[in-house]
Amino acid sequence: MTRPFRLALPSKGRLHAPALELARAAGVEVDVNGRALHAHCSRWDIEVLFARADDIPAWTADGAVDAAVAGRDQIVEAAAEVDELVPLGFGRCALEVAVPAAGAIAEVGALDGGRVATAHPRTAAAFFAAEGLAVETVPIRGSVELAPRLDAADGIVDLVSSGDTLRQNGLRSIATVLESEATLVARRDLDGRARAVAAELATVIESVVAARGKRYLMLNAPDESLDDVIALLPGMDSPTVLPLARGGLHAVHAVVDAEAVADLLAPLQAAGARSLLVLPIQNLIP
Ligand code: AMP
Repeated sequence: MTRPFRLALPSKGRLHAPALELARAAGVEVDVNGRALHAHCSRWDIEVLFARADDIPAWTADGAVDAAVAGRDQIVEAAAEVDELVPLGFGRCALEVAVPAAGAIAEVGALDGGRVATAHPRTAAAFFAAEGLAVETVPIRGSVELAPRLDAADGIVDLVSSGDTLRQNGLRSIATVLESEATLVARRDLDGRARAVAAELATVIESVVAARGKRYLMLNAPDESLDDVIALLPGMDSPTVLPLARGGLHAVHAVVDAEAVADLLAPLQAAGARSLLVLPIQNLIP
């Protein structure tokens, strides 16, 4: 293959900005002006293309692009035969069955013989078939949540993240069809050179995603407090402990969960730690 490696990112919608930001953090220098563009990377020759999120799985399966960022729900809906390389930690949502909160339907079995509106007709149909239920799917592209109110359907199958949209429309979830998040995917039949680029891109992207949930914690501890301070640290491995130039103190470095930092600082200080620093991590390969 002589053309550059092609990476597709969602052109708009809720996956666009985080996908672009992740590509940049991974060293793919994307300069957005226009729809298709060439990204210059020192290590790779990658052409970055922007495409509709729901077209991306098919483009990848067909080999029109080599790798892409796609929502898992869209991969499943397109029945796209692609390799899922790295879950990206954004675009998290669930495809759920929801019905009017004030209605009589309390579980999916009660939808037997009924209709659901959905932008994911294939996935929804497979779900109800697996449940042994005869449920007609009404394909709708936007504002699926309006369908029950308009008496166009008994329920819906739609993506839910916070649940606010369901609540605002008087709906409640009664079942989860699948969990989704943005995912780095690649076509299955990559040739040798493209396969190597995809593997390297996946490693770098995975290291950026892994780093986001972690912080680098540095502190100094008097020797007599060292054991107490270390006992508080749930690091990736055991923390690094280094003697300081001035005796009686050690520096302690550890990688900790970002979520744990707020709960760690006061106990560390109480245990004798001082000069605490918490730093972001750019890349992390465990
Ligand atoms: P778009 O419709 O272009 O904004 O992209 C929709 C994609 O974003 C979906 O296919 C999902 O993968 C993801 N997503 C994450 N949370 C939600 C949500 N609450 N509603 C719709 N899509 C979501």
